Amino acid sequence: MELLKQRIRNEGRVMAGNVLKVDSFLNHQMDIRLFGEIGREFRRRFDGCGVNKILTIEASGIGIACITAQYFDDAPVVFAKKNPTKNIAGEVYTSRVESYTHGRVYDVIVSKRFLGPQDRILIIDDFLANGCALMGLIEIVRASGASLVGAGIAIEKGFQEGGHLIRQMGVRVESLAIVDAMSEEGGVVFRD
Ligand code: 5GP
Repeated sequence: MELLKQRIRNEGRVMAGNVLKVDSFLNHQMDIRLFGEIGREFRRRFDGCGVNKILTIEASGIGIACITAQYFDDAPVVFAKKNPTKNIAGEVYTSRVESYTHGRVYDVIVSKRFLGPQDRILIIDDFLANGCALMGLIEIVRASGASLVGAGIAIEKGFQEGGHLIRQMGVRVESLAIVDAMSEEGGVVFRD
């Protein structure tokens, strides 16, 4: 998606530890018009797949997921929670996720009330790096008996293993901008 690539080129900052900062438009300050274009593009790619629910993970996936939902007939958005206050066994699906940016391991939970066999799920997230976040969400979808239509990712870091691993599992992953290489001096190099 050229518009997104352009914003990354113009405003993205490559930080130590292979972290791409896009906080002026994606995950701190949010450009809602751009999110609209992102949502429209996800709809185009997953049109006719019968998506009836969107699943994401807090915090930075939520904004994109909500705007994207407007292009899927206002499908409900469920976000996996990272800090359960009440983790009552039996009432939630749980999965363990290692955070790429924060270097921590935590449990994510989704209430069993909001995911079930009748659901056709599109997972949405801002970044795909090593794939831990996405893998955790996929585990939760599988445990719920819902159908997984695929995953829509804004920015995939193609030089990390997540995209490859998850596509190998047979999951359809659609990324709007794939970064093949990046450095503080050379900036960002996109696939295609
Ligand atoms: P993964 O679990 O695939 O390793 O990482 C995905 C999660 O880590 C995303 O939800 C995102 O919040 C965060 N993340 C991974 N890489 C980056 C990055 O380069 N920049 C930013 N801003 N977030 C990232």
